[in-house]
Formats: sequence, structure tokens, C-alpha cells
Amino acid sequence: MVVRACSAGAPMSAGTATTQLVIPERAVFYGGRFYELDGPGTAVVNPANEREIARVADASPEIVDAVVTSARAGFELWSRVPVAERAEALDRLAATMERHGDQLARIATSEVGTPIRDSRAGQVNLPVRVLRSTADITRDYPWDVRDAAGSSIVREPAGVVLAITPWNFPVHQIITKVAPALAAGCSVILKPAEITPLTALFIAALCDEAGIPPGVVNVVTGRGSVLGEAFLQSGGYDVVSFTGSLPVGRHIGAVAGNDIVRATLELGGKSPALVLPDADLKTAVATTVRNCFVNAGQKCNAPTRLLVPRERADEAADIAAAVADSYEIGDPMDEKTTMGPMVSNAQRDIVTDFLTDAAAAGARVVTGGDRSRWDRGYFITPAIVTDAERDSRIAVEEVFGPVLTVFGYDGEADGIRLANDTQFGLSAEVWSGDPARAAATARLIRAGQVRINGVRTPHLPVSPFGGYKRSGLGRELGEFGLDEFVEVKAVLGDPVVEAANGQDR
Ligand code: NAP
Ligand code: MG
Repeated sequence: MVVRACSAGAPMSAGTATTQLVIPERAVFYGGRFYELDGPGTAVVNPANEREIARVADASPEIVDAVVTSARAGFELWSRVPVAERAEALDRLAATMERHGDQLARIATSEVGTPIRDSRAGQVNLPVRVLRSTADITRDYPWDVRDAAGSSIVREPAGVVLAITPWNFPVHQIITKVAPALAAGCSVILKPAEITPLTALFIAALCDEAGIPPGVVNVVTGRGSVLGEAFLQSGGYDVVSFTGSLPVGRHIGAVAGNDIVRATLELGGKSPALVLPDADLKTAVATTVRNCFVNAGQKCNAPTRLLVPRERADEAADIAAAVADSYEIGDPMDEKTTMGPMVSNAQRDIVTDFLTDAAAAGARVVTGGDRSRWDRGYFITPAIVTDAERDSRIAVEEVFGPVLTVFGYDGEADGIRLANDTQFGLSAEVWSGDPARAAATARLIRAGQVRINGVRTPHLPVSPFGGYKRSGLGRELGEFGLDEFVEVKAVLGDPVVEAANGQDR
């Protein structure tokens, strides 16, 4: 493997307000630099028009040693940087991301297909808030405190973090790992999803511009089954943090378990929206459909199972279909577009396959599943399904596309049972006209997040996120997210030291 260093982050139009970051092609980032790799690399395709937009490195396992060495050196340096300076670095990274936010949103839209307005909100503004909220949490975190027995409880950086991320909300999913890892004093080796590498490389350039020291953040692109697997088997990390599918997560958890390495796993979902009989059906259904179809339904916590009193199931399906039919589907760069293409043709085929299967098993596809209107781009109209058997494939497996299935339940106890009748437990929604009833029901659902009446909370970036059951292990965001990247040490007989609580560490 031939590697050449190249420069990045050189402004293309220095001195103008629209300074663009330049990401070198076929390059990986470690030791604080981009290195261009030999070979043809891999094409990145815009799912809206099927055109190649860039070529990135398809790094082979030979690169693993150099990247692990870089990350180990990064850890030695960064773990000694005082907490206050680490928090400042996160704030600088947030400001840098904000400054380049327009470019970042456009890159996210061109590699994922997310409508540009949603990319600005979810792929720029949200990660910026995550960075800032993590900086704040870091400043108040109990880094070094005395317990009731007079010992010191010291929280220390866990080491080198291997972060493996998916393609659906690439910036947010990367920052959700990088922010707390850096806050904790860890270094990161990031292996992003093969089909959305540009946002990851952009983040590498942002880290460089924000003055994150060499080796602290390392980004290497390549195939999961080859490069990801090589990192996984390398033994060169102390924590692995993975977001992606259940089968890959199970494999990563098994390897980590064998090595006694901590694993945080954020996996799939089949989340319920439980509409109680006293809820406003129209609002509940319409809001649930919109929530489900964010990012063309490619969202791990999408409420894909809409549970309504049986006698209102047909009415609910009609309301849902009307909302589904109202989407402006098209060019995701267009401000008016509310649904873009799916990320890949393979992902679109999965959706078509689920819908064909559901119909064959006796379910009714009320609307959606049409892809014939487009001759370019991986578009499909969003689908509403009803009358599916509770144990059918569409009822139990994650689709990961714009498909919502309506189920009727018989009485509240049956509704709650149905909500919990899944191997997953990432999130849930409860709808009720009675706040006390909604609150009580939320506590009966086995999921990591339960949203009442579709509330949009300003605290989202600090609310813990993660799964019960096969939706995963561990939590991301907020103080719980930081906990995943620290080791805890008890120092018995530690003399009392003034101002021990971390500010000067
Ligand atoms: P995936 O196939 O599991 O891939 C996720 C990441 O793992 C990618 O970077 C992939 O690389 C890598 N990978 C694949 N095989 C690997 C191996 N043997 N060793 C190491 N790394 C490996 O998932 P996806 O198709 O990208 O994303 C969709 C899935 O993610 C859905 O099931 C969804 O529910 C889940 N998801 C969960 C959350 C959450 O927070 N709970 C969030 C988003 C998505 P390549 O891309 O190169 O294959
Ligand atoms: Mg995959």
C-alpha cells in the first residue's frame, strides 16, 4: 500500500465569507494529516441522481497498525489535557462546524439524500448542540469526588475508542460518539459507513481546523466487512462504540466480549406509537406518520407500528395515507422537498421486498411503494400498511424505509402488550388526552425513550438515548453518554485536597 501525505483544509477562496473546506480525494486522516492512498478508491454516489460525486479511499487492513499507533499517541497526549481545555476544544469544534454548516449540510444531503432543510437541522444544528451540551456537561461532571467513606472516586479516560457508524444521520451519529469521547479524554478511530464517507472526512478537517491535536481523531474509510473487521480484530482499542444493524452489532458485541472490551451498541428498532382511546386520533396519527417518515423512514427510532383501538383502525389508516400522499418527493437540494430518495438502490429494494411480502401474507398496502415515476434516483413513495398479522414479517422486522403499519388493539392492556411485543426497545410514543394516564403508560413500555403526545423537547441533546432488549447496550448523549467513555477508580486513603472536583485536572 502506497501512502502519500497531502494537505487539506486549505481554503479554496480565502478571504471570502464562503470559505469552503477542501477534502482531498482517496485520503484517510490520521496523525493529524490526510494521506492519499493508491488505488482507484470507491465512488460516492448521489442517491438523487445516481451520479458519482467523489472518490474516497478504500483502505485495506494494512493501514490498521499506523492508525492504531496514531490513536495511541493521541490518547497519551489528550488524556493529560485538563478537563477545562477539553471542554473548550468541543466548543471550538462546535463553532467551526457552525461556520462551515452550509457546506456540511450540502455534503450530507448529496451523500444521504436527506432534504436540505432536514440536513441543516439534524446534521448541523443538532450536532452543534450536542458538542456544546457535552462541553457543558464535561465542566460539571464528577471527575474527582469524595464518597461517603472518605475515598476519592476518580473518573478517568477509558482509552482509545473504535467508533463504527452508519449512513442514515452520519454527522449526528459520529458526533454523538466523538463529543463524549473527546470530553472524557479518549482518542477516536472512526470507521464511517462505506456509502457516506464524505461527512466523516469533513469532520476530520473540522477537527484539524478547530485545533484538536494530531492523533486524537482519526478517520479511515473502507468496507465494514474488511477494514471495519480488521480494526475490530486488532486489539488496538479500549472501547468500541457501534451504531448500526442487529447482526453486525451482535458480532461486534461477541468480539468485544471475548476481548473483555467495553462495547456500546446502538442497534435497530420497531418502535410503537400507542394511541390510547382518549387521544385526538387525527393529531396522533398525522404526527406519528411525519415522525416515521423523517429521512425517508431511514431512522432507527422511527415509530413504524401505529397502534390504535381496533374499531378506529380503518379511520387511522385513511388519515395516515392522506399524510403519506401529501409529501413533496424530489430533489433533496430543493427547499420545498419534504422527502428525498432512499440512500441506495439496495435499501429501496428492501422496502419493495417488504411490501410485496406483506401483500402476499394478506396485509393491505393502503398507499405507497411506487418507484415508477422516477427513472433516476432511488425514490419511492411512502407506504401505509394495515391488516397485517402480528407475527408477520412486516410486523416484527425493521424495514428501515418509509413504511408505517397500522395495527388495531382490543382494550388498553392488549395495546400495551402489543407495544412491548417486539425484540427491540429503542423508543416509543404514547398518545392520550389524560397526562396522568400517558405518564403511567409510558412507564409500562420497555424502551429507552418514550415520547408523550409527540412533544418536541429542547433538551433532546442531553436526554439519554439507547435501547432495551436487542436495540442495544449502553446509552448515548448527556451524562450517560459520557459515562460510556470513562473508567472509575477508587483511591482509598486519599488525603483531602482542595478543589478536587476536576476543574484543575
Ligand atoms: P450496518 O450494516 O450494521 O453497518 C454499520 C457500520 O458497521 C458501517 O460502518 C459498516 O461498514 C460497519 N460494519 C459492517 N460490518 C462490519 C464488521 N464485520 N466489522 C466492523 N464493522 C462493520 O448498518 P447500516 O446498514 O449502515 O445501517 C442501518 C442499520 O443501523 C439499521 O438496522 C438501523 O436500525 C441501525 N441504526 C441504529 C441506530 C441507533 O442509534 N440505534 C441509528 C442508526 C441506524 P460498511 O458501511 O462499510 O458496511
Ligand atoms: Mg451495511
